[in-house]
Amino acid sequence: DKKSRKDNSDVCLVDPVSLSCNHSFCSSCLQKFWEQTQSRNCPICKRKSSKDHLGVNFGEPKVFCKDDQRALCSVCDISQHQSHTVVPVEVVIKELKEELKSDKKYLMDRKNQCRRVEETLNQMIQHSKKQLLSTERQIRAQFNKLHQFLKEEEESRVAALREEEEQKRKTMMGEMKRIQEQMSSLSESISAVEAELQKDKEQTSTSLAVPPPALYSHCKLQCHPQTSLSREIPVLPRLSACPSA
Ligand SMILES: [Zn+2]
Ligand SMILES: [Zn+2]
Ligand SMILES: [Zn+2]
Repeated sequence: DKKSRKDNSDVCLVDPVSLSCNHSFCSSCLQKFWEQTQSRNCPICKRKSSKDHLGVNFGEPKVFCKDDQRALCSVCDISQHQSHTVVPVEVVIKELKEELKSDKKYLMDRKNQCRRVEETLNQMIQHSKKQLLSTERQIRAQFNKLHQFLKEEEESRVAALREEEEQKRKTMMGEMKRIQEQMSSLSESISAVEAELQKDKEQTSTSLAVPPPALYSHCKLQCHPQTSLSREIPVLPRLSACPSA
């Protein structure tokens, strides 16, 4: 029977052999039986067997000794196993199947645990990726603000510098204009003084009592700051007296 042979695949006789009739025995038991009976017959069906046809066959054993952890054939000396726990092979097979089921359950539980860990790791990877993108956005936003701030600060400082330069330029242009006016005024004064000198040459007798214009101009330069020169120097110095004289 193919099914029973498959079912019994986990239980072993000691060095099992099977005869051409498909009955299986421990090789030592069979050897002993054959020596005792002086025959080559199967201990169960008594059919003649040739040793050439011996092979492994697990179809036959009916009982299993739990203490020796092996199946017993029909010829095994049962007296040796009297104090042992001997159970039908089917029971052992059922127990082994239960053990396998338990093993399978344990393995599946472990696999499920691993799957849950895998899911958690996947979630962590996804979360970490999201966090990276979010943090990257934050950093970029902050640096954009800084760049904008620095750009504005740069423009503002350059603008302030230009404004300052413009103010300086205006002040200096004003000063330049005043200096030019002053120069023009001085030129007029010089011309006037020269005219006076010319007059003095012509009218020496009438102008002896007043101070010479050159002396008056010299006095004014000493008494007033340079910036007020243009306003203070009279075009006709002859009309007033020198304050320090
Ligand atoms: Zn047989
Ligand atoms: Zn045996
Ligand atoms: Zn035993």
